[in-house]
Amino acid sequence: MRIEEAILRRVEMPLKFRFRTSFGETSLKKFLLLELRSGGNAGWGECVAEEGPFYSPETIESASAVVRQFLLPIILERDLASPAEFETLAAPVRGNRMAKAMISCALHALFAEREGVPLARHLGGIRDRIESGVSLGISRTVKETVANVKKHVDEGYRRIKLKIEPGADLDRVTAVRKAFPETVLTVDANGAYTLSDAAHLSKLDAFGLDYIEQPLHHEDLADHAELAKRMSTPICLDESIRSVREVDLAIRLGACRVVNIKVGRVGGFEEAIRIEERCRQAGVPVWCGGMLEAGVGRAHNVALSSRAGFVKPGDISSASRYFEEDIVEPLLETREGWMPVPSGPGLGVQVRRDVLGRVTRAIEEFR
Ligand SMILES: [Mg+2]
Repeated sequence: MRIEEAILRRVEMPLKFRFRTSFGETSLKKFLLLELRSGGNAGWGECVAEEGPFYSPETIESASAVVRQFLLPIILERDLASPAEFETLAAPVRGNRMAKAMISCALHALFAEREGVPLARHLGGIRDRIESGVSLGISRTVKETVANVKKHVDEGYRRIKLKIEPGADLDRVTAVRKAFPETVLTVDANGAYTLSDAAHLSKLDAFGLDYIEQPLHHEDLADHAELAKRMSTPICLDESIRSVREVDLAIRLGACRVVNIKVGRVGGFEEAIRIEERCRQAGVPVWCGGMLEAGVGRAHNVALSSRAGFVKPGDISSASRYFEEDIVEPLLETREGWMPVPSGPGLGVQVRRDVLGRVTRAIEEFR
């Protein structure tokens, strides 16, 4: 397939709430959105790089520079046989996985659309609906935390994840578990602790958590393996897993028993699927993490989550939870804890150019 045109937009969408993690706080979702055009078809990709280099070293600025200077020339000068060919051709570019993933996602959506098959099936998905979980930012008080959990339990979400940090952990989990003894509950520290907190963290074992996500620094695989020996709650890795090599090492070290896969963090669908397959081989369940995506990124996450290895509820919740209006229609919404997998060709949802016009701050075209 020859890519005739690439359109790179900078988009800003206000969030309905302030989302706080151990990294910081956000209330405006800013991101890069790529449209690839070929033979009357369009493929869309959303970049999950954030404004600052806190979740990952990439930023909107850095991803934009790498895409323009190194990655778009690869696809604009060739006839691509498959999206996987882009991964091979882009291999000399190190890191910059979120930039690469935006292109990988757009190419897969474009190829699926041209083939007339839903993206989910194009990626090897087998489900027609996926289980939805929700990720709740750190609230100011314990009371607010419990109220927020209640709201989402009432909406039917099948797993509640609480962001935690030192000083906002045991108190929240104790209160939430007391109020909701049956709810599937997890916590995510985004690397805010060290191994010296092992005794403190092991107190979480009393609450029947499904797992604790990324308790320690993303480069501390050996420390995660050590922590795993000191607590019974399974450890799930997020930031530490950027490639199948890293997941292989983590599994061999005993550093995790669950893995969160984000297509942006691992550089594209090819690597995401390799990680899922390595985990399945090792009996390690995976689920799809979220980065406060707008509609295009959400559609990609839903499609990926329809694969067999994604056996735990992901961070994929209703678009209307985040935004007053989204850039796609129909909205991707959860009903009683389940989200339908779009069944139309390609992305399976339509990008709304009227909304896009309102939220686009800059636009560049490449041929
Ligand atoms: Mg996480």
